[in-house]
Amino acid sequence: MAKVFVITGPSGVGKGTLIQGLMTCLPELELSISATTREPRTGERDGVDYHFMSSSEFQRRLQAGEFVEHADYAGRRYGTLRSELDRRLRAGSPVVLEIEVQGARQIRRTMPEAVQVFIAPPSLEDLRLRLEHRGTDDAAEVQRRLAVAEDELAARSEFEHVVVNDSLERALELLTEIVQGSLAKCRAPTSHYTRGQQGKATQP
Ligand code: ADP
Ligand code: 5GP
Repeated sequence: MAKVFVITGPSGVGKGTLIQGLMTCLPELELSISATTREPRTGERDGVDYHFMSSSEFQRRLQAGEFVEHADYAGRRYGTLRSELDRRLRAGSPVVLEIEVQGARQIRRTMPEAVQVFIAPPSLEDLRLRLEHRGTDDAAEVQRRLAVAEDELAARSEFEHVVVNDSLERALELLTEIVQGSLAKCRAPTSHYTRGQQGKATQP
C-alpha cells in the first residue's frame, strides 16, 4: 500500500508553502483535495484548491460515510473525502493530507501507519504576523485562528515528527528528508534485491 503523509499544524504556519516545495522536490507525491464549507478566497478554484460545498452537502456526505476524517474549524467544516484518498492510493501514489490537528488525530487512529509531521512556528507572534501578512483573512478571522492555534500548539508532543518552520529553506530540507526517508523504507525490499544481484555479478 502506498504511503500517506499527514502534514499538520496551525493555520498560517506555512504548511501550504512547505507542501508546494515538497511536491517540487518529490513530484511522485499527490495532494489530496479537501472538502470545505468555507467561501473560496480570491483566486481559489473549486476542485483544485478545495471541493467547496454547502453545509447541507457536507452533512449529507458525512452521514453517507464519505469522509475519512473531518473537523469543525473556526466556524467552518473541513474534511478528506475517502474517494480522494483511495483513488490516489489505488494508483500507487504516495498521498499528502494537509489537515488540522483534530483530523490528524482521527487519521492516527484509523491509519496508524500514516507518517505524521507537525509544523510548528518559531513563536505565536510569528504565526500572527504570517496570518496578517498573508492577507487572506480579516482581523476577526486571524483572531479566531490564533485562538485555535494555542490549543493546536499544545498538541505538538503527540507527533512523531516536528519541523519548526523558522528558516523556510531549512524546514523544507527537514520535511523532505522525513518524507524521502519514509518512501525509501517502503522501497527497501527492491533495492536490497538489486544490491544482492549487483554483489553477485561482481564476485570473481
Ligand atoms: P498554512 O498553509 O499553514 O496556513 P501558508 O503556507 O499559507 O500557511 O503560509 C502562511 C504565510 O506565511 C504565507 O504568507 C507564507 O508566504 C508565509 N511563510 C511560510 N513559511 C514562512 C517562513 N519560514 N518564514 C516567513 N514566512 C513564511
Ligand atoms: P484554510 O481555511 O486556511 O484553507 O484551512 C483552515 C485549516 O483547515 C488549516 O489548518 C488546514 O490545514 C485545515 N484543513 C484543510 N483541509 C482539511 C481537511 O480536509 N481536514 C481537516 N481536518 N482540516 C483541513
